[in-house]
Amino acid sequence: MRYLMKFGGTSVADGRSIGQVVELVGACRRSGHEVAIVVSAMRGVTDGLIACAEEMATTGHPDPAPFLEAVRDRQARALAEVAPGHAEEALRVIDDRLSALSNILRAVHTLRELTPRSRDYIISFGERLSAVVVAAAFREQGFASEPMEGGAAGILTNDCHGEAMALPESGARIHERVVPLLASSIPVIMGFMGCTHDGSVTTLGRSGSDYSAAVLAAGMDADECWIWTDVDGVMTSDPRLIPDARVIPAVSYLEAMELSYFGAKVLHPRSIEPAMAKGIAIRVKNTFNPDHPGTVLVTNGVPSRRVVKALSFIDRVALVNCNGAQMIGRPGVASAIFAALAERAVNVMMISQGSSEANISLVIDEGHLDAATAALTPLVAGGLFRELSTEPDVAAVAVVGSGMAGAPGTGGRIFTALGRHGINVMMISQGSSEANISFVVRAADGPRAVRALHDEFRLSEKCDDE
Ligand code: ADP
Ligand code: ASP
Ligand code: MG
Repeated sequence: MRYLMKFGGTSVADGRSIGQVVELVGACRRSGHEVAIVVSAMRGVTDGLIACAEEMATTGHPDPAPFLEAVRDRQARALAEVAPGHAEEALRVIDDRLSALSNILRAVHTLRELTPRSRDYIISFGERLSAVVVAAAFREQGFASEPMEGGAAGILTNDCHGEAMALPESGARIHERVVPLLASSIPVIMGFMGCTHDGSVTTLGRSGSDYSAAVLAAGMDADECWIWTDVDGVMTSDPRLIPDARVIPAVSYLEAMELSYFGAKVLHPRSIEPAMAKGIAIRVKNTFNPDHPGTVLVTNGVPSRRVVKALSFIDRVALVNCNGAQMIGRPGVASAIFAALAERAVNVMMISQGSSEANISLVIDEGHLDAATAALTPLVAGGLFRELSTEPDVAAVAVVGSGMAGAPGTGGRIFTALGRHGINVMMISQGSSEANISFVVRAADGPRAVRALHDEFRLSEKCDDE
């Protein structure tokens, strides 16, 4: 079998965790399988790099040295634990990279300018360092292993810095560059990054290593793509919010996509399509509890008696309402609204239009609210609709399950349960796939709404067919 295994920030956070990674992958390799791995930055390092880069661009006398020393210290401690025999050579590479990073940070400060391109280069350093440590740990155990940049492994992207997308040519490049290495080594590929045609480094969006994993798995024709993380699998809800959430043994790609799109951080929303296109099974497993079977993502899912399988939740979103009778029966209104938003790079997460057509409601990221207001105010002035209203403090909840398609009464049960708990619903949207009913409530009601529905659909209880 050929595997692509991805280890997130918690799984490579320190020497103990990296030791666990080496044990898991090493056992797989010893049983004769081919494995390439993708690693994230050590937990927290990307956040630190972003903060440091912004400080360099905006403050008078920034001092990046304590941050850079702390990052070096973490890598050095992990190396001493899992690769004492290779620590010296690995630390030389790490020191070279940190001195390159320090120079770029100084240049950002001198120019007081952090361009999307330089920001991407800077924030890719977390992966540039962790991959060196992990590859050294494999070598320590007698495996041939080298760190590889995402671009060198074949991930070619567009130039949308910060949210780059892999281009279709990546597939053949990955095949050509990674597959020949698998017979004799374990390549350790840096997640979260790719490069453009002209060689500049791009990043794939926060939590983008899951996306790297799916693109690489598809390119190298892996039989399976395993996402190793710090929970036992995809769960009925975020266990940090719902402590009695349960692991779901199997979900369809579609269900997983709906959940991740609406905030289930366990998988990045873009990580599903590349694997789905090639029918590659994705498994989500716990690095720290590897005997648990985890969750498998498959084409049609396993038919389940459960109508609702899981709930997800995003806060920090805003509701935008465009109201006015002049919209009724007038073609082109929705298109003018979306064009104005697109021009200011505002991403729309949910849409709902009443049958009277006198109202169009949209849910956007809270950070885009000013841009959305600036985009839509001229449309009011131009008479396209009468009034624009916005609500910043809201949360979106998604109720997900393929079984909802054609199961009458699910909507009724959802909204009756919310009503019983005194939770006011501000907007509702259901996609035509019927695998998702999502709604918007006040931010403060979000966690209560998830709890109420988790209880209503008895998601903490084992179902006979699980
Ligand atoms: P990694 O560093 O491995 O990429 P993340 O922190 O990005 O890990 O994702 C794992 C986290 O996702 C879990 O610790 C959990 O709190 C959160 N999470 C949110 N929703 C879900 C869900 N439905 N199932 C499992 N985990 C979830
Ligand atoms: N290190 C990156 C981040 O923190 C990518 C990832 O972890 O997947 O967003
Ligand atoms: Mg993640």
